[in-house]
Amino acid sequence: MDLQQDGQAAEAVTDAPEANVTNEASAPRATEAASGPFPTRSPLDGSALPAVTATSPSEVPVLARKAREAQTAWAAKTARERASVIAPVKKRILARAEEIADLVHRECGKPIEEAALAEVLPNADLVEYWTDAIEELLEGTTVELDPLSYPGKIGRIHKAPRGLVGLVTPWNYPVAIPLRTIVPALLAGNAVLFKPSEITPRAGALVASLFEGLLPEGLLALVQGGGDVGAAVVDEADIVVFTGSVATGRRVAVRCAERLIPCSLELGGKDAAIVLADAQVERAANGIVWGAFTNAGQNCASIERVYVDRKIADKIVPRIVELTKALQPGRDTAVLTTSRQCDIVRRHLAEAEAAGAEVLAGGAPEAGSLAFAPTVVKLDREDTPLLREETFGPILPIVLVDGAEDAITRVNASTFGLTTSLWTRRVGAAHELARRLKTGVVTINNHGFTAAVAAAPWTGTGESGYGITNSPHALGELTRPQFVLEDRNKAARELWWYPYTPVLRKIAFAMARVRGGAGLFGRIAAAFELVAALPKRLLGG
Ligand code: NAD
Repeated sequence: MDLQQDGQAAEAVTDAPEANVTNEASAPRATEAASGPFPTRSPLDGSALPAVTATSPSEVPVLARKAREAQTAWAAKTARERASVIAPVKKRILARAEEIADLVHRECGKPIEEAALAEVLPNADLVEYWTDAIEELLEGTTVELDPLSYPGKIGRIHKAPRGLVGLVTPWNYPVAIPLRTIVPALLAGNAVLFKPSEITPRAGALVASLFEGLLPEGLLALVQGGGDVGAAVVDEADIVVFTGSVATGRRVAVRCAERLIPCSLELGGKDAAIVLADAQVERAANGIVWGAFTNAGQNCASIERVYVDRKIADKIVPRIVELTKALQPGRDTAVLTTSRQCDIVRRHLAEAEAAGAEVLAGGAPEAGSLAFAPTVVKLDREDTPLLREETFGPILPIVLVDGAEDAITRVNASTFGLTTSLWTRRVGAAHELARRLKTGVVTINNHGFTAAVAAAPWTGTGESGYGITNSPHALGELTRPQFVLEDRNKAARELWWYPYTPVLRKIAFAMARVRGGAGLFGRIAAAFELVAALPKRLLGG
């Protein structure tokens, strides 16, 4: 296969079909010429990709204003009405399954099967989950107030939309990641300003097109471009939902702090698999090989470290190597999406080898190729980027450890904390170990796939960010609690209103004693004081 470096080489593509990949219903009238920061050729085979029209950062405030205007009426609809508007997206995803998978295949370089399984089917489930659940999830709750302290009062907590959600996404799952926020954000009554990665703008446009004709004009606005356009989105939003690298996430968080708006950050990972001595070898080996090499390891939850109990190493390590060698390039494994990513993966492997890592399968491709073979290495030292930094590529490092304690200490030593998998037959003990792992997700005898489960919170710790995607917990970010108190008390004054008098002072301290600030006799005496003082206060004393 003649693999090309990604389109950052910026070759002029004269044979690219003039595709309008912006969402007509909600996208800007682009004023800049096509090309911008977008790759022009497929990482898969170098074939030309359709041209993309960039959005000027100066257009972003205009789109933000229009989105806000549309949001007012949208938020006034009931959750059920909004759900009925969005429900058809499920059928659209399924009906366009082949188109979606084919585009992601060409734009990202992932196998068609992987694109269909990760970027189509779970998204249809996601729309169904949220449209079914949203009415109940947005229901307000009543707060009971103590009738003696707060007579005649009743409180209600509503879940109000944030307003304008700024959504900035990466290239590795360019359909699934945006949809995980767009669907619940809209259902909760928000508008969305969506900037897909400049590496996968066509998949971003496809995502926006799934809503075409369903939503009020401008409610979902697609903007295309690089970091400058992303920064313009951050400058306009009421909340930013960001998925991407640690470095960019930090910049986004700083800007959000300056603007005093919340942000949700889903960042990188250095996920570990722990193989305990009693693991079921065949399942663990198959699961780990998939968890490391799916999407060529370009997955925030990719297995980038395997801690294998020495007692089982002779059985599982050869099996992992054998399964890895059996993977068919192109059929089973993706190419890397960008040359920049390929350079990072090469460097990590080279530095690990220099530190004594033994390559058991695979190895770096020839210069210029993005077809990085699935690679297994065995090493003892952890002080190398391959074990410390996010690799985001198809390398599976294996480290032998002395049992579960040793493994847990090593996993928790990472600056990242996205997911960990535990491979063992002793499920009860695994649940105990899970509680000691400082990662947002723990899977027992499986790895990573729960990002695709709409009902399960996807979240991390440390440099993996503090965002929460999926599940009712995600709504905690996409809505704000609004407390509404209704007072049915007809009295002319509350106890704590003016005037402040000696009687009021007496009541305040008597109340403190009655509630536990004094012993039994002190409490009884304070109760008598209250009985005498309260009527005086009611009469204006
Ligand atoms: P990136 O940080 O380079 O880019 C992410 C997005 O940020 C892009 O759309 C980019 O244009 C935009 N951007 C760049 N500068 C910006 C700025 N100053 N302000 C606002 N936006 C800006 O990341 P990437 O290379 O596209 O994605 C790969 C990373 O994403 C990996 O680290 C991976 O682990 C992470 N990721 C995390 C999750 C998760 O759920 N935790 C999921 C997928 C990917």
